[in-house]
Amino acid sequence: MLSFPSKLPAQGVTIFSQMSALAQRLNALNLSQGFPDFAAPEALLDCLVDATRQGFNQYAAGDGWLPLREQVAQQFVQRDQVQLDITQEITITSGATIALYCAIQALIHAGDEVIIFDPSYDSYAPAVELAQGVSVRIPLLAPDFQVDWQRVKDSINSRTRMIIINTPHNPSGAIWSRQDWLTLIELIEAHNIVVLSDEVYEHLIYDGQRHYSALSFPELRQRSLVVGSFGKTFHVTGWKTGYCVAAPELMRLFRQVYQFASFCGNTPCQVALSQFMQQHPEHIQQLASFYQQKRNQFNAGLAQSKFMFTPTQGTYFQNVDYSQIRPDLNDVEMCQWLAEQHKVVAIPISVFYAEPPKNLRLLRFCFAKTEQTIAQACEILAQVN
Ligand code: PMP
Ligand code: GLN
Repeated sequence: MLSFPSKLPAQGVTIFSQMSALAQRLNALNLSQGFPDFAAPEALLDCLVDATRQGFNQYAAGDGWLPLREQVAQQFVQRDQVQLDITQEITITSGATIALYCAIQALIHAGDEVIIFDPSYDSYAPAVELAQGVSVRIPLLAPDFQVDWQRVKDSINSRTRMIIINTPHNPSGAIWSRQDWLTLIELIEAHNIVVLSDEVYEHLIYDGQRHYSALSFPELRQRSLVVGSFGKTFHVTGWKTGYCVAAPELMRLFRQVYQFASFCGNTPCQVALSQFMQQHPEHIQQLASFYQQKRNQFNAGLAQSKFMFTPTQGTYFQNVDYSQIRPDLNDVEMCQWLAEQHKVVAIPISVFYAEPPKNLRLLRFCFAKTEQTIAQACEILAQVN
């Protein structure tokens, strides 16, 4: 008798695959999985065609295409005044997901504890489980998804090996202030704890606020890995190209694992991104205002509906409270109902928790959409009651 026990026995198909499939099946407006429904910049697509035609179709260096690492380094100098050694401190990866995964596999040993704030991006906890680590899930505080610092303090012990930060935060859109970082530094200073900072929405930040990278704090420089994604920044989530940045010793450990998880990222995408970044620095400079306009359009529409919300501070997600509409439905049921009755698909927030708070009545909508799609969504949502 054959027997192949699962290494993730409780794990189903991700919510993103489920909801995008539901949208397709019902031919509904898909505001669930986070991806743009508009084209990537024409010049970036040209760079990709050129890269393939010029023959950049074989393996890249395992650590990544050097000119792209230079571009990442330049971002950190300009924004955070942090100098990175591009040979030892930056690795280009096949997306952010694999970078997060490899960072966790590289650093977590059996029995190590990893602090994760809930609601949390769905890939963190399974990666910890596969490393035989123990996730310590700490709920963020309602209604603004702030950190419960007392609880963090109480959770830290000699087995705590990692804390995973995500700012701007998916799914809430909350961002970490400088004070949040300073509090973290104080709490972990005396402990052997590594910070894994998921900063894939680093450029999507609104209302004049700014992003603080873990690496911008000298106290965290030797103990942090920062993960980013070109997919979010350049409207090409399907290119699956991201990066990991860390001090040399942490990066050495990261690369030991990454070389066998993927070896290297997609070559023509790396070449194209580096060329585009050199030629079009304005793309990143204008990204926050580009998305802030979309947020504002979506918020103006939502204001005409019975959904309640606070304008999101970062990411391309807007959370809404539907308790004035169908308080009798939990959020998974509400998503199903919205999809079936109104042909619009969202993501339920409860799925990002180990233990969802009772009576959570929140949904996440993605507004990385064309003006027309947002207008259409607003029209639908205004009718929901
Ligand atoms: N982290 C967060 C918080 C995300 O929202 C995403 C979404 N895509 C990722 C990581 C993964 O990024 P990538 O598509 O580059 O793997
Ligand atoms: N990060 C995207 C989201 O939160 C989805 C990525 C995925 O499908 N794994 O919607």
